[in-house]
Amino acid sequence: MDLTPLIRDVPDFPKPGILFKDITPLLRDPRALAYVIETLAAPHHQQGITQVVGIESRGFILAPAVALALGAGFIPVRKPGKLPWRALRQPYGLEYGQDILEIHDDALTSADRVLIVDDVLATGGTAHAAVSLVTRLGATVHAAAFLIDLTFLGGAAKVGVPVTSVLRY
Ligand code: AMP
Repeated sequence: MDLTPLIRDVPDFPKPGILFKDITPLLRDPRALAYVIETLAAPHHQQGITQVVGIESRGFILAPAVALALGAGFIPVRKPGKLPWRALRQPYGLEYGQDILEIHDDALTSADRVLIVDDVLATGGTAHAAVSLVTRLGATVHAAAFLIDLTFLGGAAKVGVPVTSVLRY
């Protein structure tokens, strides 16, 4: 299925110089949505995945559906100050400045095998921070799955675990 007509390029959003990959046209197409969830999950069946970690914000749209497809649970990794319980913090570098991701400190155990899910892989810093949080809780990261890999940015090499994607630019 050709998904590229359903990905809208929005120049200079949210900042000048960024070509934003808007996935909302894809999400509103029932056949494309089903295909994307199946294709995100496909390489990760029979891998003993117990939990799917979704990264705020757009990872939250995809990760719970992937978790259902894999018979796994869903764990949110959130921006700072959003989680109600005790949380681990992971700062990470952006092109300009720093950001932070958090996970509940009782979200995972050493018995968990995790798939990380997000919409877009760009430089890989966000996904790498999620890998660090999962690893700090003693769980194992099996892989990270993305709807879109912006391969020209080389992010996959930075994530630190195997990367799969549905669309590559
Ligand atoms: P990075 O840490 O550079 O890999 O950036 C990945 C995060 O930023 C993901 O959570 C994406 O949702 C978001 N992101 C980065 N670049 C884009 C883009 N061109 N279009 C849409 N989202 C993006």
